[in-house]
Amino acid sequence: MTQKELLSVAEEFGSPVYVYDAEKITSQYKRLTNAFKVDNLRIHYAVKALSNISILKLLNSLGCGLDTVSYQEVKLGLRAGVAPENIIYTPNGVSLEEIEEVVELGAQINIDNLSILEQFGNRHPEIPVCIRINPHVMAGGNSKISVGHIDSKFGISIHQMPHLLRIVENTGMHINGIHMHTGSDILDIGVFLYASEILFEAAKNFKELEFIDFGSGFKVPYREGDIETDIEDLGTQLTERFNNFCKDYGKELTLAFEPGKYLVSESGNFLAKVNVIKQTTSTVFAGIDTGFNHLIRPMFYGSHHDIKNISNPEAKPRFYSVVGYICETDTFGSNRRISEIREGDILSFSNAGAYCFSMASNFNSRYRPPEVLWYNGKAHLIRERETFEDLTRHQVEMNFDTSPKELADKD
Ligand SMILES: *Cc1c(COP(=O)(O)O)cnc(C)c1O
Repeated sequence: MTQKELLSVAEEFGSPVYVYDAEKITSQYKRLTNAFKVDNLRIHYAVKALSNISILKLLNSLGCGLDTVSYQEVKLGLRAGVAPENIIYTPNGVSLEEIEEVVELGAQINIDNLSILEQFGNRHPEIPVCIRINPHVMAGGNSKISVGHIDSKFGISIHQMPHLLRIVENTGMHINGIHMHTGSDILDIGVFLYASEILFEAAKNFKELEFIDFGSGFKVPYREGDIETDIEDLGTQLTERFNNFCKDYGKELTLAFEPGKYLVSESGNFLAKVNVIKQTTSTVFAGIDTGFNHLIRPMFYGSHHDIKNISNPEAKPRFYSVVGYICETDTFGSNRRISEIREGDILSFSNAGAYCFSMASNFNSRYRPPEVLWYNGKAHLIRERETFEDLTRHQVEMNFDTSPKELADKD
């Protein structure tokens, strides 16, 4: 999308507002599917990154399935028209009851601990399940989003394979898939391939596999010139390795991935208006009409989002600290070089597609912003801005006597 088009969205729908470019989502999906030359490839989009139903519908229309982490995400996927067999459910630490509810909905179950595996196998030996393996390879760059390391709560440790196999044998359950997800921001393809080898090795233990799921964690660029996962290189290398594995295994398996960020991060822009320019002795603050209630990643993970002044793009750049209106430290970016900001200008935050709206809250009793999908050269509202009704909808009000009272006798 051009800056002019973004500005037109802010004019039409007000600020703050999230805007997603359908074309970018589509091109990322195609780039990924073109990189892996295998007979059976399945991409399951990680719904938690951005769960708007229209986004799910768009991805479904491209042939993309869904990766879900809660019963509610499965329901959203079904609402979007995704076939249950194209939905994989990969929760962490949920109850057996929730897993059984998801079985009722028809999604593929992925289990990530031995306790639930055993209980599930005892009760439903006929329902095929995928197992999540932790290969103990740390591929990600950020400790909060790296999930493959030794102390991670995710997956069944590769070292527990003997115990796992005993459960499978004793319960007579069917393992139709094997899975890993080593975390976000993979840069080193070698590390990813190393983890894949561990998964291939583990896969040999199961005779009824239909798919191998390599999770996600592809890194996308956050700044100009940023390095990103070389998908084409990974595609070439993993394709060859996977096809060889299938030959040895004696069956054409499906190669699966479950990217969130890769598909939607760059499609998104978050637009906010500058309420006030405040000069202090050390910096110039640009205070905007939003805060970490709407975009928590900078304060939560220290994530970087490029910030551009789309109302005054040609002006001379100056240094600013861009801050939100929340009554706590609420910094989007310090010492950013941005073309001169005037009060009323619209700033655009890039990489606002993944883990932005989906993590937004009503903190400070603010309304969550609207979401707009830019599709075929036009803006489509896909979520309305909240109203005061939304803030009060589920509150149950008590009433207290407000008539003047005599002071209670303390004795
Ligand atoms: C969050 C998650 C993903 C998506 O990760 P990205 O870094 O957004 O691609 C994939 N699989 C599982 C199991 C997840 O929890």
